[in-house]
Amino acid sequence: MVKVHQFGTMQMLVESLLDGFVTAKDMLAAGNTGIGTGAGVDGELILLDGKAYQVNVDGKVQEVPADFPVVFGDVHEADYQVVDQYGKRDLKTLLKNLLAKVGTKNLFFSVKLSGNFQYVQTRSAKKSEKPYPGLGEIAKNQVVFDQKDVKGTMVGYYTPSLYEGVGVPGFHLHFLSDEKDFGGHVLEGKIESVAASVQILDGLSVQLPVANTDYQKANLNDLSHLSKVIHAAES
Ligand SMILES: [Zn+2]
Repeated sequence: MVKVHQFGTMQMLVESLLDGFVTAKDMLAAGNTGIGTGAGVDGELILLDGKAYQVNVDGKVQEVPADFPVVFGDVHEADYQVVDQYGKRDLKTLLKNLLAKVGTKNLFFSVKLSGNFQYVQTRSAKKSEKPYPGLGEIAKNQVVFDQKDVKGTMVGYYTPSLYEGVGVPGFHLHFLSDEKDFGGHVLEGKIESVAASVQILDGLSVQLPVANTDYQKANLNDLSHLSKVIHAAES
C-alpha cells in the first residue's frame, strides 16, 4: 500500500498561507521521490533517490539542507514499472498516451520520464515574504527557463479532477537534469528518447499545518476562485 503523501494543499497556496510547516527531512521521511515548493514559494523542489533538490529563481540547482522549510509537497516511495519507450514527440502527446495506457483518470499515479529531451521549459518562483501575496500574484513574478538537448528526469503526479484544490488536477511534473544544472516546474517539453514509468498509488494522505494559527484562522470556505487561479498558475 503506497499512497502519495501530501503536505499542505493547493488552496493554501492560493489563499496566501505560505508558512513552512514541515522540512525537507520530513518530506524524505515520507518517501524518496516527489515534488514540492519551499516556504513562501521558495523555488521548485524535486526529490529523487532520497535527495531533495531546489531549483531557485535564478535557475540554480542545489541540494537543500534537512531543515529547509516546505509549504507544499507530494512524496511517495518509488516502485515504478516501465510502461514504454518513447521517441520524438511532444510531452503533451506522450502524457495523453500514457494516461490512455494507465486506462483510468480516477486514480493517483506517479510518472517518471528518464532520458533525452529535445527541449524542456520550466519555471521557478522567487521566495515571498510575509505578508504573502496570492499564488496568482506569485505566478506573475515567476521566471521561465528553456533548455535544449538535455538529459534528465521528469517526475510528478497525476491527480484526478475531484481533488482539485487539494492538489493540481491532471499532471504536475518537475524536472531535474542529470548534470544538476537545470530544472523546475515543467511547462512544456519535447521528447528525444525517454523511458516512461508509472506507479499507481493507492490513494492520498494529506498532512495539514495543524499548529499554524494563520491556517487555523483563515476563511477557506470560498472555493469559487480556486479553480480559476489553479488553472492560470499551474498550466
Ligand atoms: Zn510544481
